[in-house]
Amino acid sequence: MPAAISIIDCDVHANVPGMAALLPYLDEQWRDSVIDRGLNSLESINYPPRAPLTARPDWRGEAGEPANSVDMLRRHALDRWNIDVAICNCLYGVQLLFSEDMAAAFAKAINDWIAKEWLDCDPRLRASIVVPMQNSDCAVAEIERCAADKRFVQVLVLAMGEVPLGRRQYWPVFEAAQRHGLPIGIHAGSSFRHPVTSLGWPSWYVEDYCAQAQGFQAQVASLICEGVFVKYPKLKVVLLESGVTWLPPFLWRLSKFWRGVRAEVPWVDRPPYEIARDHVRLTLQPFDGPCEPTAIVRLIEQLQSDEMILFSSDFPHWQFDGDEIMPAGLADGLRRKIQAGNALGTYPRLIESKV
Ligand code: ZN
Repeated sequence: MPAAISIIDCDVHANVPGMAALLPYLDEQWRDSVIDRGLNSLESINYPPRAPLTARPDWRGEAGEPANSVDMLRRHALDRWNIDVAICNCLYGVQLLFSEDMAAAFAKAINDWIAKEWLDCDPRLRASIVVPMQNSDCAVAEIERCAADKRFVQVLVLAMGEVPLGRRQYWPVFEAAQRHGLPIGIHAGSSFRHPVTSLGWPSWYVEDYCAQAQGFQAQVASLICEGVFVKYPKLKVVLLESGVTWLPPFLWRLSKFWRGVRAEVPWVDRPPYEIARDHVRLTLQPFDGPCEPTAIVRLIEQLQSDEMILFSSDFPHWQFDGDEIMPAGLADGLRRKIQAGNALGTYPRLIESKV
C-alpha cells in the first residue's frame, strides 16, 4: 500500500468470467458435481450481464461481457483515476442457492479465486469475504478461514436475504466480524426468497433496482432495533451501492417514532440517527441526488456527519459517464474525507494490510 493514500475505492466488482474459472478452486466433490450436472453458471441475477446498468458501454469486453479481469479494472479505473486502494466485491449466485453445503463450497471457491486471481495480481486490491448466510455456522467458518489473510477487509452480504439481518441467528457472524476488524458490507441485491418490493413482484428491472433502497432501510432499522450495535459496539456496517439521499429522511422518521414507542426496545437507549452516525457508512455511487454542486453538501448537513460517505466508483456498473467520479463543488477537506479518510476510519485492515 502506498505511503500516502489519497483515493480508496470501496466498491469495485470482480466478476467471475465463467464457471470454468472457479473449477480449480472447488473441492473435488463439488467440481465433479458441477461437471456431472452440466452447471454452466451461477451468474448473479441481480445484475444480468447484458443489462445496461451492469456495465458501462466502454467497460465491456469484445464480446460485450462486463469487465471481468484485473487488467480491465487497472486500465479503466485504478490507473485512470489514480486509485490507491480498491475493495473488490464479488457478486455471484452464492446467496441464491438453497443447499447450505453448496453455498459454503462456492463461497470458499470464490474467496480463494479472488485471492489468487485478483489480490495476488495487484497490490492495490483488497476484497470482501463472500459468506454463505444460509447458515450462520458456515458463514462464521468461512470468515475464520479467510481472516488470516489481511487483504480481506470486509464481510459481504446482500440487502435482501431470508430474514432481516438484525435477527439473533446472524449474531455469531457479527461477533466474528467484530473480532477480526471486519465491517459488514451490505450490497444491493437479493437472494430472491421474497419479492423485491413489499407489495410483491414488480414487472421490470428498473423497479427491482430502485426498490433496493427499501431493503436497505429495513436492514438499518433491523440492526438498530434488534440491538446489534449494543451487543457489538465496534461493529461497522457499510451500505454498498445503496444510494445515499434516502437515509436522512428515513432516520428522521425512525428516530421520531422511536421516541414514541421506545419502551418496546429499551436497549435502544439513544436516537437511531445517533447510532447510525457511529455505525453506518454508505458508498458514494450511485449518487442519487441532484447534479447541482451543493447537493452533497446539503446531504451531509442533513446527516449531521461528514464521516459517513465513502468514495466508490462501483466499477464496472454504469453509475456515471466520463470521469465524473465525484460530485462537483466539494471543499478540499470534505473531498479528502470522502476519498480516503472516512474509509481508513471504517476499515482497520486497510492500515494493517500495508505491503
Ligand atoms: Zn456495487
